[in-house]
Amino acid sequence: APASAAKPQINLFDRKHPAKATVTGNFRLTAPDASCDIRHIILDLGATHFPVLEGQSIGIVPPGADANGRPHKVRLFSVASPRDGERPNTNNLALTVKRVAEPQPDGSVERGVASNYVCDLKLGDMVDVIGPFGATFLMPEDPGTDVIMICTGTGSAPFRAFTERRRRTMPSAAGKLYLFFGARSPAELPYFGPLKKVPPKLLDQELVFSRLPDRAKEYVQDRMRKRSADLAGLIERDTTHVYVCGLRGMEGGVEASFRDICGEHGLDWIKIRARMRETGRYHVETY
Ligand SMILES: Cc1cc2nc3c(=O)[nH]c(=O)nc-3n(C[C@H](O)[C@H](O)[C@H](O)COP(=O)(O)OP(=O)(O)OC[C@H]3O[C@@H](n4cnc5c(N)ncnc54)[C@H](O)[C@@H]3O)c2cc1C
Repeated sequence: APASAAKPQINLFDRKHPAKATVTGNFRLTAPDASCDIRHIILDLGATHFPVLEGQSIGIVPPGADANGRPHKVRLFSVASPRDGERPNTNNLALTVKRVAEPQPDGSVERGVASNYVCDLKLGDMVDVIGPFGATFLMPEDPGTDVIMICTGTGSAPFRAFTERRRRTMPSAAGKLYLFFGARSPAELPYFGPLKKVPPKLLDQELVFSRLPDRAKEYVQDRMRKRSADLAGLIERDTTHVYVCGLRGMEGGVEASFRDICGEHGLDWIKIRARMRETGRYHVETY
């Protein structure tokens, strides 16, 4: 974890003793005609003490059993809200959940158990929540640190939390947040609207789209190369932290991009990454 990170609490609730949360929000984040359904879910913890830090995850226990009669496995979801809740001092937390529905060759659709359960929750429903989990993917508290956040899709969840935390507690921090955020189109980019209202002096934003009509495909790693000089300057410094979050497989492209950027600027990516890892400044969470 970063040297200046707050100390996380983990494993306070398990399957045998889950926390009970009430659903107080379920909004679709992607446009009505978008090809994917990503939702903003708000879970209220009521009187239960369920402390989370930005970057941590929680486990959701889907009710019922699988085809073999065994209880469903727990699935993890990143917390998308800052530690003091969606509004300051509310005992709730937000999630950014993508409905998994994969069309199969035979024409059927394979629906993910937990994501569909969560995306279909109604206001007032009770949910079993376990955790919190995660002791390394945490944000630095030092306002002098620069933070590079690279994500696709629901990988934006922890970065929404990081950004809100900085905005609430250190709006004039010397360090800056840099966001490289990829989606197919603006309609499929969660929080596209709210992001436009975040001041550029707090958050430097690169929103990258891979399926815009009449435009070449662009991925986060391509946009990183366009910001090569800025990124080289940043990762050279011992105060810069890098976070990558999203679908498995995105690390490869991001790493290759950092390697090229370093090559262009006479830096050694392998050495820089090793040093960042040793000092808790390089974090990847993909799923
Ligand atoms: C640390 C961590 C944090 C996570 N944070 C989030 C988060 O913030 N938001 C979020 O939506 N998810 C997040 N996930 C993923 C989440 O835990 C589930 O894996 C995901 O919701 C699918 O679960 P499911 O029960 O719906 O699908 P399952 O029933 O487990 O799977 C059904 C089918 O879908 C396929 N599948 C599974 N996941 C995906 C996928 N993402 N895309 C396409 N096909 C898939 C499987 O291969 C399987 O064939 C996180 C995972 C980890 C480990």
